[in-house]
Amino acid sequence: MALRNILKEGDETLSKKCRPVTNFDKRLHDLLDDLGETMMDAEGVGLAAPQVGVLRRAVVVLETNVPEGEPEQIIELVNPEIIEASGEQVSPEGCLSAPGRFGMVKRPDRVKVRAQDRDGNWFELEGVGLTARAFCHETDHLDGHMFTELCDHIMSDEELQDYYQSQQQDKP
Ligand code: ZN
Repeated sequence: MALRNILKEGDETLSKKCRPVTNFDKRLHDLLDDLGETMMDAEGVGLAAPQVGVLRRAVVVLETNVPEGEPEQIIELVNPEIIEASGEQVSPEGCLSAPGRFGMVKRPDRVKVRAQDRDGNWFELEGVGLTARAFCHETDHLDGHMFTELCDHIMSDEELQDYYQSQQQDKP
C-alpha cells in the first residue's frame, strides 16, 4: 500500500470521463488499497481513481454512519451507478482536489448505488446523509465533474463559520 498524490482542480485529468474497470486483478486491488489509505491520510470521506490520475471507474467512500464505538468503514465501489435517489439535503461540500474550498451543494438525502466489489461481484448499497452525498460526489468524478460546477459560489470563511454556528444553534 502506498499514498498517492491527489491531483488538484485545474488538472485536465479531473475533467475526463473514466473507462469501466474490466480486470479485477492485483492492479485494481492495489489501486483500491491506495485510494483507501490516501483518503484516510487526507481525512476525506471519499476519493475517486481519477483524483490520483487513474481514469478508471473506481472509488472509495467512508461510511461514517456507524454505531458509536465501531470503526468507520471504507466502502469500495467499482463501476458504480446510482440507481435510486430520494429526499434532499443542502450543505457545504468540499473535495480533496480543492483543498479549503467549500460551496453549498444540493444532493439527494438517500441514494442507492449498484456497483461491483474488488472481485467483480455486483451488489447494491444504500447511503444516507453524508454517505449519500459522497456516493454522488465520487460518481460525478468518474464523469469528469467537480462539485464546483454545482454550487453558485465558493464560500468565504465567514460564510462557513456562520453556517456551522447556525447548525449548532439548531441542535436541541
Ligand atoms: Zn472530490
